[in-house]
Amino acid sequence: MINLKSAQDIEGLKRCGALSKEALRLAGNMVKPGISTEEIDKFVEAFIRMHGGIPSFKGLYGFPASICASVNEEIVHGIPSADRILKDGDIISIDTGATVGGWVGDNAWTFAVGHISDEIKALLEVTRDCLALGIEAAVPGNTLGDIGYAVQSHAQKHGYGVVKNYVGHGIGRAMHEDPNVPNYGKPHKGIKLQAGMCIAIEPMITLGNADNRVLRNKWTVVTNDGSPAAHFENTIAITKDGPVITTCEPGHNPLDVDEGRNASC
Ligand code: MG
Repeated sequence: MINLKSAQDIEGLKRCGALSKEALRLAGNMVKPGISTEEIDKFVEAFIRMHGGIPSFKGLYGFPASICASVNEEIVHGIPSADRILKDGDIISIDTGATVGGWVGDNAWTFAVGHISDEIKALLEVTRDCLALGIEAAVPGNTLGDIGYAVQSHAQKHGYGVVKNYVGHGIGRAMHEDPNVPNYGKPHKGIKLQAGMCIAIEPMITLGNADNRVLRNKWTVVTNDGSPAAHFENTIAITKDGPVITTCEPGHNPLDVDEGRNASC
């Protein structure tokens, strides 16, 4: 069942979204060679709690940390660890979520560690554009298929793999609500979008083949061919005036002015 949100509900999503985004931005600032993913996790947890939030991921389905930290061939759900030290040339996808006043925010970004190759830089740029294009398609009257198609077609145009067995999702007072929001689809197919739907759009795109598996820790998803993966995510509200990114402080988009392009913050 899809829970449509009121204007007041969307204000709640913007509050938790702003904290989620700020936690992500600060986590990104910590990314450098020599830091462990556990250090970033500890900082984010303290930062979210200091601002009256609860780290949304901690304990969710038993996840042991406040951020997901997925390095290189890890697509999503990487577990932070003191032993995982970032090194020059790595990429790290960080997923942060903050719950404030019962509302849940969810966003992710893939950061470069030091200097990365042009090939991987392009993967990051295209995946970020996939997110922006997916958000642009999130207007009333379009369908979930239109969002998925926008993401998939842009990634495939560049020869990248599209992860299909992990998807975006409805979000609100719970992290995962209906509907599923796949990163693939056919134009005009699937559930029709309407004002009040709030969803997390999160393309997961791979440099090689997108086939993947879960590691023995039962969480971390990695590409089978070892190729690097990128993951960018925002939570948005679909309104009659178009998509509004809720994981974004009003008038302030710290990560990228291009993010969402036509979407308002
Ligand atoms: Mg998500």
